[in-house]
Amino acid sequence: MIISRKRDFQELLENIKNYKSFFLIGCSECASLCGTGSEKEVKELAETLKSEGKEVTGGIVAKTGCQVLGTKKELKAYKDEVNSAECLLVMSCGAGTQTAVELFEDKPVYATNDSLFLGNMTRFQVFDERCSMCGKCILDKTGGICPITTCPKGLLNGPCGGMKDGHCEVGPDIPCAWVRIYERMKKLDKLEELTGSVFDARDWSTGQSPRAFSAREKKGK
Ligand code: SF4
Ligand code: SF4
Repeated sequence: MIISRKRDFQELLENIKNYKSFFLIGCSECASLCGTGSEKEVKELAETLKSEGKEVTGGIVAKTGCQVLGTKKELKAYKDEVNSAECLLVMSCGAGTQTAVELFEDKPVYATNDSLFLGNMTRFQVFDERCSMCGKCILDKTGGICPITTCPKGLLNGPCGGMKDGHCEVGPDIPCAWVRIYERMKKLDKLEELTGSVFDARDWSTGQSPRAFSAREKKGK
């Protein structure tokens, strides 16, 4: 999931100081799990804006904010509320914000959250980064642990000389990714696969932005 964090409210207020009326768009998926875009946060922001003398014409928690056509369909029922708002505030990740930008060419759109990383929720609203979306997965060779993401240096053939007692030199709370990989491969009795190979330098062109992809099957082939 995409991990998001609420932006500083004063900063948001400064950004929207020239507008009086707002329509709010949350997201029921990642942003809700992050506590940045659920029904609760949409209501809270509406109340806070009102207490600042702003008008809130309405709000919605979109099912999946980054699903452009689905969100467009959901927002049809809120046409009047959206039209009467000077500005849209999107309470999801940046992808959801850009859905609104795409759907409403003539309205200013502001993000209420910062998008942080792709991660896992390990406890309630506690998140760890697990994947860098680099475009060429090597998890099949590293026991399912991503060194590009979980090693601060992104080393492919670690551990480096800074590893101490299984911990990373970058921070004592970070377990060395390569020690974790080694231990896991050992447990799986696959150490030979690991020690017998050296990863080549990566071709980072697989991660070149902006990326696009279609999962549709080509017809007539
Ligand atoms: S808009 Fe962002 S927060 Fe919402 S489902 Fe899509 S990726 Fe997750
Ligand atoms: S100690 Fe391990 S996790 Fe830390 S930078 Fe070196 S190889 Fe990467």
